[in-house]
Amino acid sequence: MEKKNIDWANLGFGYQETDKRFVANYKDGAWDEGALVSDAKVVINECAGVLQYAQTCFEGMKAYTTEDGHIVTFRPDLNAQRMEDTCKRLEMPVFPKERFVQAVVDTVAANEAYVPPYGSGATLYIRPYMFASSAVIGVKPADEYQFRVFTTPVGPYFKGGVKPLTIKVSDFDRAAPHGTGHIKAGLNYAMSLHAIVTAHAEGYDENMYLDAATRTNVEETGGANFLFVTKDNKVVTPKSDSILPSITRRSLMVVAKDYLGLEVEEREIPFEEVKEFAECGLCGTAAVISPVGKIVDHGNEIAFPSGMSQMGPVTQKLYDTLTGIQMGRIEAPAGWIHVIK
Ligand SMILES: *Cc1c(COP(=O)(O)O)cnc(C)c1O
Repeated sequence: MEKKNIDWANLGFGYQETDKRFVANYKDGAWDEGALVSDAKVVINECAGVLQYAQTCFEGMKAYTTEDGHIVTFRPDLNAQRMEDTCKRLEMPVFPKERFVQAVVDTVAANEAYVPPYGSGATLYIRPYMFASSAVIGVKPADEYQFRVFTTPVGPYFKGGVKPLTIKVSDFDRAAPHGTGHIKAGLNYAMSLHAIVTAHAEGYDENMYLDAATRTNVEETGGANFLFVTKDNKVVTPKSDSILPSITRRSLMVVAKDYLGLEVEEREIPFEEVKEFAECGLCGTAAVISPVGKIVDHGNEIAFPSGMSQMGPVTQKLYDTLTGIQMGRIEAPAGWIHVIK
């Protein structure tokens, strides 16, 4: 398979059209067979449910080339399950989990020429998503939906080396108790844009959101979960019903416990406790872990001992182990690596 002539090491994180995408349509209460198609455009009614009432959701995952030359993806069954949970909350039809995984595999295989080579630092980002395609004018679930999967090659997240982030404690809330914070619904990201643009304008990389009810506990950022390391090397992560359950974070907790032999805890984390931690990182598919160097709460700075030039030692070990598992350098727990070809 001849790869595309792409400067992998200098790719950014942006959309680049690839050759094929998967499309399936839901109509009269059933999904059709679906197919790989070449046309990247979507044509829908002007009154489609997605356009009027934001009935849409998505997933994000990656395909990698391993050290021994296979193309693999990471725990796709968990993305399939999470999209099922999201669809149920949004009154959307579930795309069956086995079909979700097959659609991801088929789309990646059809775009093999865009899967970055091992060692380039780049990966093929995979975007499964679903939206209401038929017209609704009264507020109600649509009758027809489209499920799609496209891929786009993305560059190494830390170009020119790791740079710890500076984040601010946001004055905005991300998710209400009993709301939609735990699902990957498009609406959560539309309403986060003003908060992130504001944070960027003030010179911060990201927002830390606190729980909306009491504003005392740490939740997450707009697109990544927090991991903290205590001074005695315990790995802790916030527990809350309004956090999006990151697959990367759940995997890192397993890595911490089973590969690194560390104590792990998922529990409420009062913001007051954050200044006691030795390390802080953000976890998600995009970067695996981005180290946080500093958190600023209305002028009060919490600077982590790990500093502003490198990952903390435990964060680094977590990062190296999970990326080693993904790239086939370290043996994976059963079922984590799904070989595409
Ligand atoms: C997607 C997402 C994450 C990260 O989840 P992964 O499964 O690790 O990619 C975390 N928080 C939010 C709000 C997200 O949308």
